[in-house]
Amino acid sequence: MRTPVMAGNWKMYKNPAETRTFFEAFLPLVQNTADREIVICPPFVNLPAAVGAAQNSRVEIGAQNLYWAREGAYTGEISGPMIHAVGAKWVIIGHSERRQYFGETDETVYRRTVAALEAGLKPIVCVGENLGQRESGATESVLGDQFAGGITPLTADQFAQIVIAYEPVWAIGTGKTATPDMANDAHRFLRSQAAKFGQSAAAAVRILYGGSVKADNAKILMGQSEIDGALVGGASLDPKSFAAIVNF
Ligand code: PEP
Repeated sequence: MRTPVMAGNWKMYKNPAETRTFFEAFLPLVQNTADREIVICPPFVNLPAAVGAAQNSRVEIGAQNLYWAREGAYTGEISGPMIHAVGAKWVIIGHSERRQYFGETDETVYRRTVAALEAGLKPIVCVGENLGQRESGATESVLGDQFAGGITPLTADQFAQIVIAYEPVWAIGTGKTATPDMANDAHRFLRSQAAKFGQSAAAAVRILYGGSVKADNAKILMGQSEIDGALVGGASLDPKSFAAIVNF
């Protein structure tokens, strides 16, 4: 039985005061939801406010990125131990916006994932094809390459601690959602790749779907056999809409 993970990615939205306001409204709406993990990933500067606001709740906090060195002369970067020290427990790695705008590659995804695990953080490792790749029938080869470069080099022990997010780039922030069947097929393919770590590891890994998840499509997506949760961007910014997704 895979416990669902419902994760919100706030991207570059909200300041600390807005973060506290969000949690005041959000926490009462999810306080009776016991059978899933709930994660919110605000911008770095809001991590302390989010950790403080979520104290005494089941909601856990994550960062949206990390650098792989523990510390050093890397102006503008934030390390895993720093994220861990402020009380965050999760980190998103290799989001398509990081790949598209900030030059992240499968190799840097791997390095960040190892660094996250060494810092005691739970990585949500993102993969996904763009529209051209989907339309040319290359989805599985793209996902296979991303898996091979970013995830396969992990040890079995490391793999057992990660969560994967399948996020078709064409569905992120566009209002277009992969159909439940399309998403389920991609998840099944990713799970087949995970068999490199053994059948039981593949059966256990949680694969989240991300891409325009909203309150009105969360239930059908979450009803698919291979979908173990959601990574939600835009709709996680509003407490009511994210609570409706969490409570699908
Ligand atoms: C995301 O940022 O990971 C995402 C899936 O965004 P949205 O839900 O807005 O498509």
